Amino acid sequence: DGLSDLIRARVRDVPGFPQEGVTFRDITPLLADGTAFSAVIGHLADVFSGAVDAVAGIEARGFLLAAPLASVLGCSLLTVRKAGKLPPPVLSADYQLEYGSASIEIPADALRPGARVAVLDDVLATGGTAAAACALLERAGATITGLGFLLELGELGGRDRLPGRELHTLVTY
Ligand code: IMP
Repeated sequence: DGLSDLIRARVRDVPGFPQEGVTFRDITPLLADGTAFSAVIGHLADVFSGAVDAVAGIEARGFLLAAPLASVLGCSLLTVRKAGKLPPPVLSADYQLEYGSASIEIPADALRPGARVAVLDDVLATGGTAAAACALLERAGATITGLGFLLELGELGGRDRLPGRELHTLVTY
């Protein structure tokens, strides 16, 4: 549709970054286009309108979506951060990357029990980051209403790691 064409035309493909054999999808041109970016936020606001108490952004590009979305919806904004950035007390979750592992954190008192939360990030790749974020938010009492991504890298199978979750992806590669 129109919105996905708008996004697709503003994503730069960078072959060989951050390593050989990988094509990085860079949303910098989309962020540079205020009209297009507004349309994206407006669309996500329609998707999650009335259904969330908080929007959680995954560090770092998820913040760029979550902050304007929370502002438009008039709901809470929550940051899911890389380990070591937030002051205590925090809740953390470790998860596996292709090589090695990573850790994410949220403030321990971030949510009321049963708070309805939407999780936002720029790209759904293997789904490991998003799955860990959902599990962590649920440990903090969240009910995950859905997840929103600008781009889905279909061949990496991220959907399979998020079974039963409501996924909203604006463009699929
Ligand atoms: P996953 O855990 O494999 O799904 O990786 C998702 C995380 O890596 C997200 O936080 C993305 O921001 C980042 N990521 C993976 N691939 C890309 C890409 O091609 N462009 C931008 N970010 C990416």
